[in-house]
Amino acid sequence: MSDNLLTPELSARLAALYQRMETAYDQVAGELAFSCSGCPDNCCDSFFMHHTVSEWSYLWQGLAALNSDHRAQIRGRAERYLAGAAAAIARNERPQLLCPLNEQGLCTLYAHRLMICRMHGVPSAVTRPDGQKQTFPGCYRCQELTEGREAVPEVERTEHYRELAELERELLTAVQWRGGRVKMTIAEMILAGPPK
Ligand code: SF4
Ligand code: SF4
Repeated sequence: MSDNLLTPELSARLAALYQRMETAYDQVAGELAFSCSGCPDNCCDSFFMHHTVSEWSYLWQGLAALNSDHRAQIRGRAERYLAGAAAAIARNERPQLLCPLNEQGLCTLYAHRLMICRMHGVPSAVTRPDGQKQTFPGCYRCQELTEGREAVPEVERTEHYRELAELERELLTAVQWRGGRVKMTIAEMILAGPPK
């Protein structure tokens, strides 16, 4: 029996949601003629926390499919990442360390990367449950492209967030989750093993 909490049905739903996020992103990127190619930066060194058991489980579906040597290398990088992040935080700095899943500039688990990894870059907006609209201008390179434009296309994230929250609620209810609120880096998710 699989030790991954996601049923095939929930897993397929999350994959389909990720695909819709990607399509929405690509549409806006296409309208802006924006791409990451040639960028001197690498956003995979941004420090983010992730909050869903479903995404953690899905990430582990990808990790579980790697061979054990490859997984051990990733674990080693995750341990170094955590040590580096703790040292930066102790200096009152925001950690800026390459994600342990990045190899030679590319994501090893591209199909299993998390929502935040799929969103960064182009402008986007989300309407919170209280009706407040939050907007994100995109990365600095994208802002250079949109500067001075009257109408800037943006990815509407509200429905994506709502669907992920619903999927998460269903999963936590089905497994009677007792693990509390998730607030973890990808390195922590790697070292913790799949959620149980
Ligand atoms: S999961 Fe992949 S895309 Fe996301 S930060 Fe890590 S290497 Fe980059
Ligand atoms: S999202 Fe922006 S800053 Fe990040 S790699 Fe792409 S172009 Fe560069």
